[in-house]
This record gives sequence, C-alpha cells and structure tokens, in this order.
Amino acid sequence: MTITTFNPPVRTLMGPGPSDVHPRVLSALARPTIGHLDPSFSTMMDEVKTLLQYAFQTDNQLTFPVSAPGSAGMETCFANLLEAGDSVIVCQNGVFGGRMKENVERCGAIAIMVEDEWGKAVDPQKVEDALKAHPEASVLAFVHAETSTGALSDAKTLCALAHQYNCLTIVDAVTSVGGSELRVDDWGIDAIYSGTQKCLSCVPGLSPVSFSERSQERIKQRKERVQSWFLDLSLVMGYWGNDGGRSYHHTAPVNSLYALHESLLMLKEEGLENAWARHSMLHQALKAGLEAMGLSFIVPEGSRLAQLNAVTIPSNVDDAVVRKRLLHEYDLEIGAGLGSLAGKVWRIGLMGQSASASNVMFCLASLESVLN
Ligand code: PLP
Repeated sequence: MTITTFNPPVRTLMGPGPSDVHPRVLSALARPTIGHLDPSFSTMMDEVKTLLQYAFQTDNQLTFPVSAPGSAGMETCFANLLEAGDSVIVCQNGVFGGRMKENVERCGAIAIMVEDEWGKAVDPQKVEDALKAHPEASVLAFVHAETSTGALSDAKTLCALAHQYNCLTIVDAVTSVGGSELRVDDWGIDAIYSGTQKCLSCVPGLSPVSFSERSQERIKQRKERVQSWFLDLSLVMGYWGNDGGRSYHHTAPVNSLYALHESLLMLKEEGLENAWARHSMLHQALKAGLEAMGLSFIVPEGSRLAQLNAVTIPSNVDDAVVRKRLLHEYDLEIGAGLGSLAGKVWRIGLMGQSASASNVMFCLASLESVLN
C-alpha cells in the first residue's frame, strides 16, 4: 500500500456538525505555530477569552476553551461541580441528556431523571415538580439545544426555577452558541459548555466553557479534589487564569486556537443578534422547501431549533441510500438519526457558515432530485 498526502473531498456540511469552516478560519489554522507560552500567544488567548465572553453574553472571568471536544467541556462541568453523593436533576429529551446522566453517575453522584419525549422541549412543570420533590438536589442540568432531535428548551425559565430551589445550573450549549439566543448572565447559567464545530463554524476539538462566581464558590468548597487531573479547573486556571501568569498545564492546541480566534472574530463582526436572525430566517426558507416536498418536522413548532432540522424519513424511502447518493453525487452531507431515532429521521443542519441561502437552495434541490 502506498500512502500519500491526504486530500479530503470538498463537501457541503449540512449535518449535525461539524459545519462548513470559512476559508478565513482555515487560513488562520495554517499560520506558523508558535510556543504556547509565547507572549504573542498569550495576548491572542486574552482576546479569545473576551470574544468567548461576547459569544456567551457573560462577564464571567472563568471563561475559556477546554482543549478537547464538547464532551470534555461536559465532563469539566460535572467533574468540578459534583462530589460523590450529590444529587442532580438531569433532564433528558434526547441523546445528550443521557450523556449527562452518565457523567453524573461516574462522579459518584445521584441522577434524578426528568424525562421528556424525544423531539419535545424539556417541560418546566416536570422540572419544578422534581425540584419540589428533591430538596436535596444541588444542581439542575439540561441540554439547551438537543442536537439528536432539534428541540430547543427554555433555558431562561429552567434556570430561574433552579435558582428558586437553590440549585446551580449546568447547561449544554454545544449546538446553541452562535445559533440561538443565549444569555449566560441574564439567564443565570452557572456552568456552560459548548463546541467549536457547530454554529461557531470552527474546526472540531475545542470546548468553550464558562463558570459563574456562584459555581466557582462551589468548586472552592469541595471536600475532595477533582478526580480528573486534566479537567481539574483549579489546575487549568494556572494557565487560563486571571492573574496574568501562564504556567504550564498542558500544551495548548496552538493552531486550533488561532482558528477559534478567527471564527469568534467573524461572529463579532456579524453581530450575535444578526447571527441568530440569520439562522432563524434560513430555517424558515428550508422548512418551506422541505414541507413542499412532503417532509414533516418531528419537533412541534415553537420549540424547533433553526440550526438542526429533524424530519421524518418517508416510509417508502431507504435512509442510507439517500444519504449515500447525496454524499457521492452532490458532495452534500446530511445527518442520520441518532439513538432511538436512527433510521427514522434525517437531521439537516444549518449551523454557522453552513447557514447560507445558497446552501438551503442546494440542499433542497439535491434532496428533491434524489427523492424523485
Ligand atoms: N452535547 C451536544 C448537544 C452535542 O450535540 C454534542 C455533539 O454533537 C456533544 C454534547 C458532544 O460534543 P463532541 O462531539 O464535540 O464531544
């Protein structure tokens, strides 16, 4: 076997992530690698922090990208905020609420599950009932934008409820940051994690996180040290901390951080509200076209994500054949169903740079031709 340079095909990415990466971000990746303790790199990292505070709408000082994918951001939140024996109310309305439960249990904590049907938003009434029934709970955890179904939950209402019952909030915003309205400080989110490969349209592999003062207090009061060395915030903060010092913790993914800097800068140039509006407008256009083809959404109107459109696969259609033809004939990726929705839905992403009018037209035309 002769191995030569890998040249990936050029695809249009309209699945559940990663999304299309803008040439500006790709060219940022290709800039010369410098040391991760180089003073110019530190200056750039300060800017990444400021830009992330903007994307999250927060003044939280403890805001930085974890050097690993969204799942590591998730573990950072749970591993630092939970200790063995703690009780956590976990909302599950799709795959990623289930991953939260796993995290809680692996911390030796107790997950009190609030279940909603896949495709529905988290029901605040069920959450309030659980908060009332479990005064011992110290955290409420939920997924803002459930990528497995396309459902958007009301983070503002859920966080207000949690605080009413003296709970901290852990929010999964992997798919919502940059695509849906999200206001960390105004809504009282205590710990939040995201991913770079969705509506930020950066390369995969980084997980922006942010922690409120309240959650930092909780971490300071831990009786046991955090089980994970890599994700222990008390150690990571020596590198990303506020004291201006940059002590070695791990080697930062230097070029990926250039890329994140560029993608966040592009978000700032567009304006967060404009980015939310763009996603919403293009979702309406895509929806009109999909419905005209006879495809129906699994999420009720009102709690649909603009950036993740899950539609039922018609019974006479072979899921895998359609996705394969889209990929091979049109270089277009759409997403398959995940978990219990595998084989039942397609997930069409309109995330970040992928949320463009030309992509909407291209996707509708390609799908129409393959279905007919
Ligand atoms: N949470 C949600 C809602 C997601 O959509 C994903 C990934 O798709 C994750 C968590 C995990 O992120 P990653 O795959 O980057 O580890």
